[in-house]
Amino acid sequence: MNNDDFDLEAFVGRLPTPTIEDLLQARREAELAPPVVTGLPMPEFVRWGVVRYRCLLDCGWFHEEHPGLERPGALLLPAGFTSEDLAAAITSAAEVRSKAFAMRIQQAIADHFAEAHPGR
Ligand SMILES: [Zn+2]
Repeated sequence: MNNDDFDLEAFVGRLPTPTIEDLLQARREAELAPPVVTGLPMPEFVRWGVVRYRCLLDCGWFHEEHPGLERPGALLLPAGFTSEDLAAAITSAAEVRSKAFAMRIQQAIADHFAEAHPGR
């Protein structure tokens, strides 16, 4: 089979369509998933959706993030996916975003310490 043989519309037409209830259930399950422990310092909430992580040595440096602007990203779903697959994919995508968010902040803090507080 090559790409010319693949009928995308027919394929999509055979996928089960998740109902609103499936999507709401998946969202509830994602919200109930345990939070990822990040070891990040406590942020300040400085203005609409912006969180600020200050230098632990109080030198005035800070790193800001706007988590609400992050794109949710693609969900990886098997062919013929079920509402459980959808819930798991939403939870997995949320965990990936959460870990990436934490790693970005930890890296910013590490970079700041390397530059401004070497050896601390
Ligand atoms: Zn500092």
